[in-house]
Amino acid sequence: MTILLSTLNARYTHASLGLRYLLANMGELQAQTRIQEFVIGAKTTEMVERILAAQPKIVGFGVYIWNVEETCRLVATLKRVAPHLVIVLGGPEVSYETGEQEIARLADYVVTGWGDVTFPRLCGEILNGPKPLMKVHAGVQPPMAEITLPYTLYSDEDIAHRTLYVEASRGCPFKCEFCLSALDKTAWPFNIDAFLAEMEALHARGARTFKFVDRTFNLNIKTSLKIMQFFLNKLAAAPDDPVYAHFELVPDHLPDALKEGIAKFPPGTLQFEIGIQSFNPVVQANISRKQDNAKAADNIRWLCDHSDVHMHVDLIAGLPGETVDSFAEGFDKLWALGPHEIQFGILKRLRGTPIIRHTQEFGMVYDPYPPYTILANRDIDFSTMQRLVRFARYWDLVANSGRFTHTVPVLLGETPFKSFMAFSDWIYANTDATHRIALDRLAVMVGRWLGETGMAPATVTELLARDGHGVKQKAAAPASAAPARQVRHLAA
Ligand code: SF4
Repeated sequence: MTILLSTLNARYTHASLGLRYLLANMGELQAQTRIQEFVIGAKTTEMVERILAAQPKIVGFGVYIWNVEETCRLVATLKRVAPHLVIVLGGPEVSYETGEQEIARLADYVVTGWGDVTFPRLCGEILNGPKPLMKVHAGVQPPMAEITLPYTLYSDEDIAHRTLYVEASRGCPFKCEFCLSALDKTAWPFNIDAFLAEMEALHARGARTFKFVDRTFNLNIKTSLKIMQFFLNKLAAAPDDPVYAHFELVPDHLPDALKEGIAKFPPGTLQFEIGIQSFNPVVQANISRKQDNAKAADNIRWLCDHSDVHMHVDLIAGLPGETVDSFAEGFDKLWALGPHEIQFGILKRLRGTPIIRHTQEFGMVYDPYPPYTILANRDIDFSTMQRLVRFARYWDLVANSGRFTHTVPVLLGETPFKSFMAFSDWIYANTDATHRIALDRLAVMVGRWLGETGMAPATVTELLARDGHGVKQKAAAPASAAPARQVRHLAA
């Protein structure tokens, strides 16, 4: 094997789409190229052994915010035990501020931006000369039609056990300053018929879960409708063997034609990730995010009332100009709209994103280590930010987990953010932990909190029993392609 394409995925179930794109586009070098994926947490020396066992001349690593530290250790160790090995880096984490990074210093070459054309070209030059003079190579962006789609490279094992990431387009026309896609300035679609032919082939091979990584699924409604119709056809043809599709949406653009299609999906077959980020117009202006809040709220409410879509809606704390009070207002507003999950994120300063322009004015202090989470800003001091971080963690455990669907609305009452913040502060004071809290213990803590805030013991017991705590759990839900935690929301 001459060229090894490698990355550390966040989980085994995440199959790397980026590596498969590179392999699909290796041209005449494809026969000498292989993929070797690892999972975060693997022992560095074991990864080194496995890489060297393949006897590659070149190793290309996909570097992301979640794996940069471990990949850096891996590259450093590889360079010690096999200094002859040529190491090429690519991926969003090394595409910006490249010269400032230790991992880039250790590597031989870095490809920034799109690697589909530039990586194979660079490998050809490394192997056959002339030796590339530059260390950093700006990725050439080819016409979309010239990129070979990678979906045949999902193995039967991938199809059976892993999430299949797919994309009908790359890029985003919006400019939200915290987001790397803000640098794209536009979106580039793949040929939709060619793309759907690949989806057809994947489906014929048994694929049932399709996760679209398109930054904005509902940008071009004609294309969105075609994609939705593809899945509706599959559902109509085999209702007992359903497909499951996940899309990212902008919330203020949901024309009637799209709504009609969405309403046809049965429960457990469609999931939307919707970015609100902030309902505060001042914050939206600060981060150049154009969003019609009224329309966005109407659309989320419509989706809740008229469709069976499972909805994750994102909010970000720590944005410039967002106070705890204004964030709380947005949180309460969103909760009232009724999405299944509120994804409570804490701002991260991704390399290359324009949010850096606010650093001085808003006193933005970021963790210097990945994932560069905000630690404090002008409006939220460090200890308050840590309370928000814990809120996010407990929110995930209690609300988003779908394990307390009857209890959470009672716990939140009329003041959702304030109530949950009080619960979050209390549970932290009483457990000193935000991780490794077993479900049984969590249920006990939720019960104790409800008791301490005035609920009668019998009512607490009854309420928790409705969520299956303290009584025998109900029989398992029927098989579904939907993720387990969605199944729990659906069962509520
Ligand atoms: S946050 Fe979403 S809409 Fe905004 S630039 Fe990023 S991908 Fe585009």
